[in-house]
Amino acid sequence: MRTKYHREITSKALAPYFSHRALSVIVRANIWQDSLRGQIGHDEFHFDNNAIEQGNTYIQLQRELIIANLEVHRAIKAWRAMGRLTHTAQDFYAHSNYIALWIIGLNNKEPNLKHLSFIDNSIINNPDFRSAKTYFPLDYFALFPKLGTIFKNLLPKDSHAWMNLDSPESGYLFKWAFHAAVKRTHYEYTEIIKMVQIKNSALLSIFSDLAL
Ligand SMILES: [Zn+2]
Repeated sequence: MRTKYHREITSKALAPYFSHRALSVIVRANIWQDSLRGQIGHDEFHFDNNAIEQGNTYIQLQRELIIANLEVHRAIKAWRAMGRLTHTAQDFYAHSNYIALWIIGLNNKEPNLKHLSFIDNSIINNPDFRSAKTYFPLDYFALFPKLGTIFKNLLPKDSHAWMNLDSPESGYLFKWAFHAAVKRTHYEYTEIIKMVQIKNSALLSIFSDLAL
């Protein structure tokens, strides 16, 4: 997903629960994942190249890091882990055909935000479910406006250029990837809060950076 949308999704889902300071650390860590160092050799950060299991493991690792850092009162490190976690969770919908399969499964029924399930095992276990492959360097050149179309047409349909839902330019499915990512980000927050409550609910105010 483009930086603008990672920022919007994260803020929309998490703004009520964190101080401005905490949220800005979370957002910065989220968008850092798309820097060059976060892109090369890190399929798991973005669910690229069918790294579904690796992406899920990475998310779990960030959850554990959040709890471990909160326990030693390292709030900034916990927020950074939250940023990394939310980036990966959001890219799941932008870099896979999850949304496309969800729409197919509706059998021509109108898509509806209320019924948009962001973790539907019937989709994830569908043999057609996959994430986009990145073909270098063509996929990189395909990102350029206008000229990019030429490179896109040279790429197979399982490429990032054809499959990604990174921005509205990707077509009408982007809107649903955006909504699913907001729901998922909120869900990840609630899951972490449950884990924190089990450990020590006094850590909640450290995490939120708000007087609770
Ligand atoms: Zn990414």
